[in-house]
Amino acid sequence: MVTALLKTPSGSRRLDLFALKQEAGHNPRRLAAIRERLLDHARAGALFCPACGGPVQPQLGDLGPWRFVHAKPSSNCPLASSRVRDLTKHALADELTRRYGGRVKRLRIDVPLPTRHGQVLWTPVAAQVDGLERVYEIWEEDRETVEEAKWRTQTHEAAGREVLWVLLKTSPHSPVYAWLEREARPYWTAIQEYVDAR
Ligand SMILES: [Zn+2]
Repeated sequence: MVTALLKTPSGSRRLDLFALKQEAGHNPRRLAAIRERLLDHARAGALFCPACGGPVQPQLGDLGPWRFVHAKPSSNCPLASSRVRDLTKHALADELTRRYGGRVKRLRIDVPLPTRHGQVLWTPVAAQVDGLERVYEIWEEDRETVEEAKWRTQTHEAAGREVLWVLLKTSPHSPVYAWLEREARPYWTAIQEYVDAR
């Protein structure tokens, strides 16, 4: 996951690694300062998952995107994420910037989006493209069911958001293709190669 809650005696606030890195640009000195601060927070045990509240640790390698991981395995948290899934979110954000340039606004990763029933749907990537709300959902073969994918799609659409599915490690025989093709829904498959190449 990309976000964590920082809890200090004076209150709590959201930390967003994607936003922090963007703010720092490619300036190595600024990145090093951010990394040191994050490691201090981690040593103080002040970082928590914004979805399940469990403690998280930062992974801030030189290679690949920065991420937070649950300190204890937490399979039923909506933000529990494999490395490849986190890489995919960043690859998607890059791809959207490359494809749409200035037409893409409010590009965010791991976004808590409201549903019409007052629940929160944690969404891998969200953006406005040409002023339209769009979300990018990631299908991971060993993690999702078509029923769940349908439910997420309908929930977004009911809230006025366009949905595009990104298929990750998906066999050509997966039932997800049948559903997407039948309903003529847009999807991307090429991100996987992009992720593998990094
Ligand atoms: Zn969690």
